[in-house]
Amino acid sequence: MPFLDFRLINALPFQWGLLAVVLLLLGGNVAYNLHREHQAALDDERKSLEIQAHVINENLSQELRATNAALQELIDNYHFWKMPGSWREGTVIHLKSLADVMPGIRTFVITDEKGIVQASNRAELLGFDVANRDFFSTIKQAPDKARLYISKPYKSVLNAYIMGVSRMIPGPKGEFMGVVNASLDPDYFRTLLGSVNYAPDMWTALAHGSGIQFVMMPDREGQTGKNLLQPGSMFSRHVESRSDENFFIGTTLNTGEKRMLAVLNIKPAGLSMDTPLVVAVGREYKAVFVDWRRNAWMQGMVFLAVFLSSIAALAFYQRRSRQFENERREAELALQNSLSDFNNLVTQIPVGVYKFRMQADGRNRFDYVSPRWCQLLDVKAHEVYQDASIADKRFHLDDYDSLVQRNEAAKRDKKPFEWEGRIIRGDGEIRWIHLESSPSLLENGDILWNGIQYDITERKHLDDELRRSNAELEQFAYVASHDLREPLRMVNSFVTLLDKRYSGKLDPQAREFIAFAKDGALRMDRLICDLLEYSRIGRRGKPHSPVNLDEVVDEALLNLKATSDAVKGHFEVASGLPTISGDHDELVRLFQNLIGNALKYHKPDSPPLVRLSAVKRHSNWIISVEDSGIGIAPEHLDRIFGIFQRLHGHGEYEGTGIGLAICKKIAERHKGHIWAESTPGQGSRFYVSLPESNPQSPSSPMALSTPS
Ligand code: ADP
Repeated sequence: MPFLDFRLINALPFQWGLLAVVLLLLGGNVAYNLHREHQAALDDERKSLEIQAHVINENLSQELRATNAALQELIDNYHFWKMPGSWREGTVIHLKSLADVMPGIRTFVITDEKGIVQASNRAELLGFDVANRDFFSTIKQAPDKARLYISKPYKSVLNAYIMGVSRMIPGPKGEFMGVVNASLDPDYFRTLLGSVNYAPDMWTALAHGSGIQFVMMPDREGQTGKNLLQPGSMFSRHVESRSDENFFIGTTLNTGEKRMLAVLNIKPAGLSMDTPLVVAVGREYKAVFVDWRRNAWMQGMVFLAVFLSSIAALAFYQRRSRQFENERREAELALQNSLSDFNNLVTQIPVGVYKFRMQADGRNRFDYVSPRWCQLLDVKAHEVYQDASIADKRFHLDDYDSLVQRNEAAKRDKKPFEWEGRIIRGDGEIRWIHLESSPSLLENGDILWNGIQYDITERKHLDDELRRSNAELEQFAYVASHDLREPLRMVNSFVTLLDKRYSGKLDPQAREFIAFAKDGALRMDRLICDLLEYSRIGRRGKPHSPVNLDEVVDEALLNLKATSDAVKGHFEVASGLPTISGDHDELVRLFQNLIGNALKYHKPDSPPLVRLSAVKRHSNWIISVEDSGIGIAPEHLDRIFGIFQRLHGHGEYEGTGIGLAICKKIAERHKGHIWAESTPGQGSRFYVSLPESNPQSPSSPMALSTPS
């Protein structure tokens, strides 16, 4: 069984279904690829943002460690500085130079245990009370000498937002003796944060672990000092996650934009910080996917084009298919109709039809036999299709050879042939059939014979009947005319005797009567002679032989010489008249009669001109005898070929009206025709059509006619 039924493939819903599946797969593939590209873009961006966050982490950790080391150094030297002497001046100088080498530090402050500034790189701060400051109070409440305290951003005395990094100054017993504090310079951080922004839609921010925003780059109004620890904010989510590093996508409460954000706690290793700093590096979500969106749009357009064009193509294809299908159906219907017409025809006509194939390999078979053909031979179609020789065996053995000969000749000459002969049906009945067949040579070397066959038994019987009655009639005419001449001769001799002996004793009227009687007897004798001659034609039954018509015409002209000389006849005979198969004497008779009439029926005032010529039409020669005589009225053109049919009175032209009837009989015995054309007053033209070869079949009338 085939994988897919052809009819299923041709079904229109199936094609649509298939197209839908293909488009779905294609669309799915496009969507999947876009999704992957989207994911890849997202992952790339996430990586980049995280790297930037780590860059800041590295830098800030370094800075915090350095600051812590600086504070530690101040704590370590604090007790030396507190020894009598001018420690404060020396310390201030030291703090100044320290602040100069640490660009991230704006201010160093050293307080006593009460919160009074003892030393600072900024002179204006000396003696200032910072007891209320967050960095001081937090340490004082929970002093830990190892801890680095990071204060919430606050507005400094100098009116700048700063963030302090502080350490406790421990006493000899570890008691709280004051605070060293370094305030971080927001400008330094701005530069650092700004340096990692690689896209215009990007911002980086640094916040205190409590959620107070310290610096944001690019700077935005109202951001510094803002509390980010709002419910649902990304900062809150970061804190809640208890993870040092997060990546978020969402709408920031802070700015209200959809962003992606890498958030990282800055907690340098080796430092004990009370709270971490939090860095956030973010990009606008939309901006990240600009390229992806352009690509997606293009792929979408391409897919849409494919989608629409494939639908249009399938619709067009199906329309054309339907058209072709309709045309095919119409053609099939027309073929079926013509086949059924053909079948009706071959069943109804009383003619058997067959196609017989002589194969190049020497075997024979029937390609087609009609029901009528089978009926005729009394054979079964399926049997002859299997074994063509069954048909051969139906032919009468006496006639079979002639069929084979005709067949061979037709094959050699590649010409159609006709044959009449007998068959012996399956039930033993002998029937006459007429067969016509025409060969065509096929490309593969086979010969295909298209043939018809019909029953002519009845006609044959009628022919035989006719032939017999004709023969009897001819016999009768011959006998009658032969025997009639005897009493006529007696009448004639006694009237002549009467005339000789008694003409002196009779009155003129009686002599005239005797003359009439003599004339009548003479004419009757001539009529009987003509009749006798007419009935003699063909009685000798001589076989046909090649006859040269040149010789025939010469002989006819010789016979007519006296007549011709008398009327000063002139002849134009075309050279090279053909040779045909026939009876020489009969043909001389035929042309003698025609030329004789041409001389006889000339115009009284001009001598006759007679022309003879021949043309070939298919397998017949048409010989014409043309004169310049009185002509024949059209209505008489057929009648003149009947026995004793004359157009002229006895006194006008001599004759009995048998000449053309004899010509007709001779032509027909040669399987030919005779007819005439004429223009009265101008001349007549007689045509004799004779077959080139004139085979006489055994069943020909000549063979069957009664011998004289
Ligand atoms: P016949 O000549 O003895 O009368 P045919 O049978 O030869 O008889 O001719 C029949 C008639 O046909 C003739 O009587 C004549 O009227 C006419 N006819 C024959 N041949 C010619 C001709 N060449 N020209 C004119 N009339 C002709």
